[in-house]
Amino acid sequence: MTASTLPHLVVIGGGFAGLWATRALAGSPMRITLVDRCNHHLFQPLLYQVATAGLSSPDIAAPLRHILRKQRNVEVRLAEVRDISAADKRVLLEDGSWIDFDYLLLASGATHAYFGHDEWARHAPGLKTLDDALQLRRHLLLAFERAEAEPDPVKRAAWLNFAIVGGGPTGVELAGTLAEIARHTLTNEFRNINPSDARVRLIEAGPRVLSSFPEDLSEKARRQLQKLGVEVSTGTPVTQIDESGYRLGEEFIAARTVVWAAGVAASPLAKSLGVPLDRAGRVQVQADLSVPGYPDIFVAGDLASVQQDGKPVPGVAPAAKQMGRHVAHAIRARLANKPAPAFRYKDYGNLATIGRMAAIVHFGKLKLSGMLAWWFWLAAHVFFLIGFRNRLVVLLNWAWAYWSYQRGARIILGRDEEDQARSTRQA
Ligand SMILES: Cc1cc2nc3c(=O)[nH]c(=O)nc-3n(C[C@H](O)[C@H](O)[C@H](O)COP(=O)(O)OP(=O)(O)OC[C@H]3O[C@@H](n4cnc5c(N)ncnc54)[C@H](O)[C@@H]3O)c2cc1C
Repeated sequence: MTASTLPHLVVIGGGFAGLWATRALAGSPMRITLVDRCNHHLFQPLLYQVATAGLSSPDIAAPLRHILRKQRNVEVRLAEVRDISAADKRVLLEDGSWIDFDYLLLASGATHAYFGHDEWARHAPGLKTLDDALQLRRHLLLAFERAEAEPDPVKRAAWLNFAIVGGGPTGVELAGTLAEIARHTLTNEFRNINPSDARVRLIEAGPRVLSSFPEDLSEKARRQLQKLGVEVSTGTPVTQIDESGYRLGEEFIAARTVVWAAGVAASPLAKSLGVPLDRAGRVQVQADLSVPGYPDIFVAGDLASVQQDGKPVPGVAPAAKQMGRHVAHAIRARLANKPAPAFRYKDYGNLATIGRMAAIVHFGKLKLSGMLAWWFWLAAHVFFLIGFRNRLVVLLNWAWAYWSYQRGARIILGRDEEDQARSTRQA
């Protein structure tokens, strides 16, 4: 077969599912086009470190072209996919061009959900992409600068009030790290404020934080957070968020920083397949991860709704990688005219970090918390980073941050609406 007559697989999304599927098809007799709207693969589990100035963007992201440079059967395309025609077997790109496929893997992941309050997005940004993390980093660092320059004590307090909505792993990591920054990193740097006066509040509407862990570990996480200086509020949802603060129960709290770490919604591309979706908008796939009625179209990662033993497979990186590899296996089986096997998720355990030397780990019967859990978490996260450079740089950064409490990426870049309004007022 010439290259152009080989079966053509289009992969949408170079995240964990898409990239792991693509790599697993190295050497297979097929052409692969990997389309992503970003030029990089992102290690989302360490995104909060970029948002809190501990790591820089290239430490946790690598260009897709570079990762796949040696895989000759892949072409990388930087483009946003706008639509999918499942019946005609083609996808529509943002520039109006179409790409035909024989097989499709849709792995475009998830985005933020504001539970019907999309107007909150402006005042409570979420954390999903490197752009989100860099904007958040800027906002967090500026909050201390604005507080330093603010003579009115009430307004100053609002700048030093930080709320994180959502007590899952991302919310916990952000709250713990922010409290450490306020209490340790910024010591002695300001003249008019004491950064450790900052109030960091973690808000969870459910009864406990880190609800995917057993109750005793989740309680230990709460205690570790409180030790770091985080106020943990559970059992009451936020009912209002605007530019001046948020409402929790009867109380309105003036706060200039609210971060959203609560809801996840499926990528809107799922809808274009025209097949049954679950309540979060994810595609209800068949046992082999193909789409009902379209045996050559697969969905994997956060966008796939998979039930196993009566429970949903979680939206985590290991599940996405396993699904990606499975799709590669299923496509190879199709090419060989063999039946595709059913997907089975292998759960290797659950870990979450809280702050410096504070984490929890749950692996089968093994439950760890505190320093030992943190070393475990560190080893796992550094090991799974793509590329030797990233691993080495991240380890060195962490070693430095550990001894000095410093965060190496505390550089404020760009201008926001507030800066522009100030310039206009002064002009
Ligand atoms: C802040 C944060 C922290 C996390 N922490 C952990 C953790 O500690 N441990 C853990 O296991 N999991 C964690 N997760 C979850 C984990 O990152 C996801 O489960 C995993 O990334 C899902 O992989 P995926 O391939 O389905 O999607 P993603 O990795 O999100 O990749 C989707 C890709 O699709 C691309 N894309 C989307 N739409 C389009 C389009 N229209 N056109 C072209 N390209 C498109 C995106 O640019 C992206 O590259 C975290 C997630 C976040 C956001």
